[in-house]
Amino acid sequence: PEVEAEPELTDGFHLVIDALKLNGIETIYGVPGIPITDLGRMAQAEGMRVISFRHEQHAGNAAAIAGFLTQKPGICLTVSAPGFLNGLTALANATTNCFPMILISGSSEREIVDLQQGDYEEMDQLAIAKPLCKAAFRVLHAADIGIGVARAIRAACSGRPGGVYLDLPAKLFSQVMDAEAGQKSLVKVIDPAPAQHPAPEAIARALDVLKSAKRPLIVLGKGAAYAQADAAIRSLVETSGIPYVPMSMAKGLLPDTHPLSAGAARSTALKDSDVVLLIGARLNWLLSHGKGKSWGEPGSTKFIQIDIEPREMDSNVEIVAPVVGDIASCVQALLDGMGQGWQQPPSDWIETLRTKREANVAKMAPKLMSNASPMNFHAALGALRTIVKERPDAILVNEGANTLDLARGIIDMYQPRKRLDVGTWGIMGIGMGFAVAAAVETGKPVLCVEGDSAFGFSGMEVETICRYGLPVCIVVFNNNGIYRGTDTDPTGRDPATTVFVPDSRYDKMMEAFGGVGYHVTTPDELTRAVNEAMNSGRPALVNAVIDPAAGSESGNIGSLNPQSGIKKK
Ligand code: ADP
Repeated sequence: PEVEAEPELTDGFHLVIDALKLNGIETIYGVPGIPITDLGRMAQAEGMRVISFRHEQHAGNAAAIAGFLTQKPGICLTVSAPGFLNGLTALANATTNCFPMILISGSSEREIVDLQQGDYEEMDQLAIAKPLCKAAFRVLHAADIGIGVARAIRAACSGRPGGVYLDLPAKLFSQVMDAEAGQKSLVKVIDPAPAQHPAPEAIARALDVLKSAKRPLIVLGKGAAYAQADAAIRSLVETSGIPYVPMSMAKGLLPDTHPLSAGAARSTALKDSDVVLLIGARLNWLLSHGKGKSWGEPGSTKFIQIDIEPREMDSNVEIVAPVVGDIASCVQALLDGMGQGWQQPPSDWIETLRTKREANVAKMAPKLMSNASPMNFHAALGALRTIVKERPDAILVNEGANTLDLARGIIDMYQPRKRLDVGTWGIMGIGMGFAVAAAVETGKPVLCVEGDSAFGFSGMEVETICRYGLPVCIVVFNNNGIYRGTDTDPTGRDPATTVFVPDSRYDKMMEAFGGVGYHVTTPDELTRAVNEAMNSGRPALVNAVIDPAAGSESGNIGSLNPQSGIKKK
């Protein structure tokens, strides 16, 4: 008798890879190790890009910003327990920032974890992830991998985007099933972020409020940048004639040099406006919760808010015209409703903001031109500002204290989604993860402007940048410490808590892995080094010596430090 042909088999490893690929996901950011080492190897063999980091938090940050840049969930792959926890920090941060991301972690055997019998890297990861992200799922059967991945993608992308945890126990990967049945079990997610049209009444209400305004203002947030509705948003600003202020990651959605940009007159714009249209920006601490002296007389500001998340409305103050829906649809509906006869805002308001903006720009200008050594922040950032102007399609990654606050104000952006920074939590540690993903996802050159303290959180990833030969130029603003590096320990025993080894040479770290290091002490040298590095397209690190006496503690947010209730005598 003839021997029947063996049925073709597939396994959990391949089903995970096939499910991701079927959904257009081409890149995995992660750190290999038990039980996911082979998954990474096989994904690479199957043509996926697998970018291996030195620490999961940076792989997670890379995945998060890949999600922001592409609207597809960025994938972070980690081992169990500690690797999972490291990635979880980035997942929580992605969720807070409304970036779509999926953290996939291998985990130990349920039977042992649930009886707490002490497995290798035992941890109930699903339970721990749940409160820290938008959704969390576990797949136990190979036949459910397709559905599990589909649920994760939909949860990450639809509505308000966020982070999703996908728990894959080690045993799942080795399970086998019939290959054809396996292929059939996969799900291609159709329309992962369906349009959500605003109600016509909500649009009519918003337009009525806008029409009544004498001093209207638009605030663009990173939700507006994420939405990729760039042309509609520009059209809304220009058709309405309403000045706008961009939140930091919305800079460049319209060029910062646009005549209606009130970015350089931000305080006046917030304080004196009477009607504010928020587009993808929350009234959280970054906007003083919509109240207090930043917003002028109590009750003097009416808010209209466009957001996909209904519960965002009235979170801090009353929203007189909530517009719930996706930004592209809402902005288009407002534009349609404005029609032909739209009245531009009173010219005295536009004039007030223009005058204030020009005065602020003129006041800043001389500070940006000094070539003195040691450099202060303004002079160094003045040099980088010119470089970004000449290279508007480069991506700027920015973190630090003074380095962040001052760069945000000084460096103009010209194109959407080119400025990536510390986001909603105002954290440090995103630098190298964001830089890697920005280069991988966009193929554009990346300029990373880093405080020396901020750089320390992810600095080891310069090896990753060198290994993949990415076009990343890191500038470390080196002022010898956290904030200023000028403190001393009053006991005389140790260095002060905020001080690093003086005159450190971060450029040597880059050289250690084959990249190019520069050590600069003047704005002219800084300009030459960064231009040379960015022209070469090779990994580079510029150690830029900054006067430790320049800047202020915690930059703009020093007032968030708690002060003792005891009055100083
Ligand atoms: P910023 O920090 O720049 O002020 P936030 O992160 O506070 O911005 O706000 C972004 C907002 O954008 C979130 O409330 C989120 O729900 C919303 N959002 C994100 N994507 C969309 C979208 N496609 N349509 C509508 N709202 C969105």
